Amino acid sequence: MNVEEGVELARLTTLGAGGPARAFARVGTPDELLDALRWADDAGLSVAAVGLGSNLLAADEGVDALVLKLGGGLSEARVEGSRIRAGGGAANAVVLHRARAAGLGGFEFACAIPGTTGGSVWMNAGAYGGDFAQVLERALVVSADRGAEWLTPDELGLSYRHSDLRHGQVVAEVELALSPRDPAEIKAHVAELQSQRKAAQPTNKRTFGSVFKNPDHELSAGRMLEACGLRGFRIGGAQISPRHANFIENAGGARAADALALMAEARRRAWAEHGVELEHEVELLGPIAVPPLER
Ligand SMILES: Cc1cc2nc3c(=O)[nH]c(=O)nc-3n(C[C@H](O)[C@H](O)[C@H](O)COP(=O)(O)OP(=O)(O)OC[C@H]3O[C@@H](n4cnc5c(N)ncnc54)[C@H](O)[C@@H]3O)c2cc1C
Repeated sequence: MNVEEGVELARLTTLGAGGPARAFARVGTPDELLDALRWADDAGLSVAAVGLGSNLLAADEGVDALVLKLGGGLSEARVEGSRIRAGGGAANAVVLHRARAAGLGGFEFACAIPGTTGGSVWMNAGAYGGDFAQVLERALVVSADRGAEWLTPDELGLSYRHSDLRHGQVVAEVELALSPRDPAEIKAHVAELQSQRKAAQPTNKRTFGSVFKNPDHELSAGRMLEACGLRGFRIGGAQISPRHANFIENAGGARAADALALMAEARRRAWAEHGVELEHEVELLGPIAVPPLER
């Protein structure tokens, strides 16, 4: 295993912020993944997998962990009858491409989710009424203590933007059960979803997707923060998107600390003006946390 030191997480996240990883390695097979996890276990290092970094806010001071990126065979996808078998490091876009070419529908929702299948299982990513729980048949999860085991959505504890997975449990592969659909229909459906997305959200800026989960309230997180007057609000190099208030953009030289400060202010305002405690959707990596609300 080739372990690199000091790899900047800013290079591995869509926001483009975050300091160095204590250790970094790429793995291409379930066996290499298991070796890496056992190496970290022996070295007393915690582990975090990174997919496309599209839902990650990594600490400016870096992460004291082995950061793993899945490549090689673990980033490929192939069709097996009406199923797709894909590596945990395969981009959703690649899986969707294979599905469309094979005339398999049901994964169109993922055209809006610019991550990997592993990162998407981690948080049961979803959009437009679909989510991973609806298409995932099983996932091969590898950990230092339990080795490799196939788990069903129930065993993974998938619910709204949540799984029971913990760092150190890495999704090496997924099997998705899809159903026959005309490729032309899939193409048209995807184009329609993408144009809806483009009309409503910043698609040409560096962001990490939705900042907060939608609360149990008549207003979505975005609408609530918009009503708080936060569109365009800026701290340092990070800015609440002028297009959609549940997105934070890197407006130039953003640091994780800037994004965290914006999140704290957004939570403070949502609580003060709507009595709602917003819960963040973005995953935090390293020694960082959103400050507690002052009530
Ligand atoms: C413009 C934009 C739009 C988005 N829209 C949506 C949307 O509509 N719906 C939605 O749900 N999300 C959305 N997201 C968020 C993001 O794309 C998803 O959460 C995606 O599933 C994250 O995948 P990733 O590979 O980038 O994971 P990362 O961001 O790299 O990691 C996220 C978490 O998953 C863990 N992880 C990554 N890979 C693995 C693995 N192989 N095994 C175990 N754990 C792993 C990481 O440790 C981390 O805790 C959006 C993001 C952007 C930038």
